[in-house]
Amino acid sequence: MKSAIKYKRVLLKLSGEGFGDEGGRGLESERFDTLAKEIQKISRTGVELAIVVGGGNILRGAKLSNTGKSRVQADQIGMIATAINALFLQDTLEGLSVETRVVSALEIKNITEPFVLRNCLQYLKEKNVVIFAGGTGNPYFTTDTAAALRAIEIKADIMLKATQVDGVYSDDPRKNVSAKLYKKLTYMDVLSEQLGVMDLTAISLSMENKLPIIVLNINNCKNIEKAISGKPVGTYIGE
Ligand code: UDP
Repeated sequence: MKSAIKYKRVLLKLSGEGFGDEGGRGLESERFDTLAKEIQKISRTGVELAIVVGGGNILRGAKLSNTGKSRVQADQIGMIATAINALFLQDTLEGLSVETRVVSALEIKNITEPFVLRNCLQYLKEKNVVIFAGGTGNPYFTTDTAAALRAIEIKADIMLKATQVDGVYSDDPRKNVSAKLYKKLTYMDVLSEQLGVMDLTAISLSMENKLPIIVLNINNCKNIEKAISGKPVGTYIGE
């Protein structure tokens, strides 16, 4: 990567659907391979990179609880799903010789490390890619909120939210061809127009702590590179 780096510490949020098949379900090795190659490129630039993984390709707690299961337990299963993705991603990255640490908000002894902020900061300084699993560790939250929380805790310069479309639209671009792509939005725009790019908890937490967010299409392999070098890509959300 030749361009100058604008953001030195980056939190990348990868939703579970990006690890799945066409319908966003299951664990597709090739999807992990593609994402891992992107991550390898970024980590080679010297950027300090932390990743929060979702679990929606395996299970979403709210959906499961609609079938009559207890919400708390459904969310606990969902959090375990994020750990499955984290471990799969770790193994794929290690296959590319990228040093990683999986840090989990849930205690999964012998497999992941517990979340200790001080340790995570040290790993980042040592240029290890830190993969956060288990969301916030609490039910009734999402991994978007976990991503905002971890980004704020590690003092990331930017949060990159990877999606399957080019950014934030006025409507679902997969259903409405005249949906408009926004280049720039304020947190208040997202909240007041309920743009649905992230849950409201994640947006308000970002707003309160002035965490800038770029929503971008992960399927275009140049996008992350562009974002970290400060080139316009996707939708920028800030003050
Ligand atoms: N989850 C949770 N607390 C958190 C983060 C996640 O209970 O702090 C559960 C919740 O059930 C959620 C699931 O884990 O549906 C998977 O996370 P998410 O839906 O955010 O994954 P994504 O949509 O990003 O793939």
